[in-house]
Amino acid sequence: MGTKKNKGTVCVQGGWQPKKGEPRMLPIYQSTTFKYDNSDQMARLFDLKDTGYFYTRLQNPTNDVVADKIRELEGGVSAMLTSSGQAASFYSVFNICEAGGHFIASNNIYGGTYNLFGVTMKKLGIECTFFDPDCSDEEIESLIRPNTKCVFGETISNPGCHVFDIERFAGMAHSHGLPLIVDNTFATPVNCRPFEWGADIVVHSTTKYLDGHATSVGGCIVDSGNFDWMAHADKFPGLCQPDESYHGLTYAEAFGKNAFITKATAQLMRDLGSIQSPFNAFLLNLGIETLHLRMRQHCENAQKVAEFLHDNERVAWISYCGLPDDKYYALGQKYLPNGSCGVIAFGLKGDRETAIKFMDSLKMISIVTHVADSRTCVLHPASHTHRQLSDEQLREAGIAPDLIRLSVGIEDVEDIIADIKQALNQ
Ligand SMILES: *Cc1c(COP(=O)(O)O)cnc(C)c1O
Repeated sequence: MGTKKNKGTVCVQGGWQPKKGEPRMLPIYQSTTFKYDNSDQMARLFDLKDTGYFYTRLQNPTNDVVADKIRELEGGVSAMLTSSGQAASFYSVFNICEAGGHFIASNNIYGGTYNLFGVTMKKLGIECTFFDPDCSDEEIESLIRPNTKCVFGETISNPGCHVFDIERFAGMAHSHGLPLIVDNTFATPVNCRPFEWGADIVVHSTTKYLDGHATSVGGCIVDSGNFDWMAHADKFPGLCQPDESYHGLTYAEAFGKNAFITKATAQLMRDLGSIQSPFNAFLLNLGIETLHLRMRQHCENAQKVAEFLHDNERVAWISYCGLPDDKYYALGQKYLPNGSCGVIAFGLKGDRETAIKFMDSLKMISIVTHVADSRTCVLHPASHTHRQLSDEQLREAGIAPDLIRLSVGIEDVEDIIADIKQALNQ
């Protein structure tokens, strides 16, 4: 409403807008259910004729306020929270791609998403073909089939730190009548808004920078409202044909620009139930209040750490798009002009053992299965998060076996560098 606010202001003031006498801080509606005065009022909610809350598995006011803040940050029209980033990625595809369907995804994505798309969704009869974003348009477009439903990529890939050319892939997707879904977890809307480059749907693992303090696992889906489902009605029957579980209602007709999120809420959340707890949404909201400040510090620190590693003789290679000789520097300047994120990928001269020795020698910086947190942390994907991938799959996903993922926090950068320095000397 009113004039468009800057991102920092939305981080602080977006979402909860209390009326006279209401709590200044977003209340936690820790309630499974909601009261109505008569049976007809309730019936109208079930028919999607009125909007309102009836059961937290579908919607909860605390969650919706926080989803709305993320929606405003991304510049979308509607949004929903999910219990995890994995649930958000799954719903974003499954909402438009059912058994017998196919989609294509960049091979430079989070390991959990790679496994979800390549293994688990296959068991549901949905096929994903992974593409190398460095291939030519012709090579990638040759993977698109008549039953292809969407294109998926990650703004900054976890853990490779490659930058996805959103505008290029949006153009490619749209020329085939497909939406582009972008996982914007690492960049956050503070540093990149994929909708401005043509992406149609954005997903987040809010577990990372949005929460920022490692308190709550969560996810979010945001719709730009820009994709015209009805123009490709044959391809998207779930949105463009009557839903028998809602008395023949057609989402794209009844809800227009809000069709995607309404269907994901009314159908997928209802049936699969991956709601975020209102308490976690409260913590997420608190995290987002400082997102703009934290991202600035993460980027400033990571740039200095990246420059230190870049010039260190024990470092074999480094991937951070803020370094002028990085492969993704130009894409970084285009999509992430104010900074990318705090995550750096690098390898040490030596073998796998060298990486493990280095990590075990760190004192302040801890080894955790986490990333994008206010505390600096480190992980060796080949022995931790990506254990389930073969060496070949690792390489396909752009992950060198010696890759160390360093997530630079918001401590004083001198202390971060000092810890890395002493560990490198071990
Ligand atoms: C962590 C992560 C996910 C998965 O999110 P969870 O909240 O752990 O389920 C998805 N995408 C990216 C880029 C991630 O970093």
